[in-house]
Amino acid sequence: MAADVLDAHADVLIIGGGMAATWSAVGAAKAGASVIVVDKGFVGTSGVTATGGPNHWWIAPDAALRRKVIEDRHAAGYGLSDPEWMERVIDTTWRTLPDLGEHYAFGTDGKGGTFHSGVRGSKYMRALRAYVFSPSM
Ligand SMILES: Cc1cc2nc3c(=O)[nH]c(=O)nc-3n(C[C@H](O)[C@H](O)[C@H](O)COP(=O)(O)OP(=O)(O)OC[C@H]3O[C@@H](n4cnc5c(N)ncnc54)[C@H](O)[C@@H]3O)c2cc1C
Repeated sequence: MAADVLDAHADVLIIGGGMAATWSAVGAAKAGASVIVVDKGFVGTSGVTATGGPNHWWIAPDAALRRKVIEDRHAAGYGLSDPEWMERVIDTTWRTLPDLGEHYAFGTDGKGGTFHSGVRGSKYMRALRAYVFSPSM
């Protein structure tokens, strides 16, 4: 068994299987890379995400609105964050999070739309596991 693992080859090796890792795996696979995900426990139940209720930074693609939330968060962090990365995170989240909808039942926002922010960690990680290991990946 160990020999099989040691003999495995891929373009990308991701160590860890929480939400950061599995979303990275999705991104790499969608870019055409072969990916191996390695977790010390079990992808879907190990780690903080599976036991918590993380929120996503779900901000509509409105330039002024996004600038404002980034400025506010940057100030709250005493200028230690990187606004360009924050913008990237917001944009990537907006474009990719709905793709998980096939596996995760996002709630409603009370205005006829979908609430893509707060998630239930255990169900969310189960969904991410199904997504990242799905045949379409
Ligand atoms: C009490 C608490 C409350 C929080 N509240 C919020 C909140 O309200 N809103 C919010 O947005 N965020 C919140 N967070 C933060 C958020 O939950 C985390 O930032 C996020 O879940 C981390 O995701 P991750 O993928 O980086 O790590 P994890 O989900 O922890 O995944 C790490 C993975 O790496 C694996 N691993 C670790 N070491 C190794 C190793 N040596 N080899 C192989 N695999 C390894 C683990 O098994 C695990 O699967 C909270 C966190 C805590 C602890």
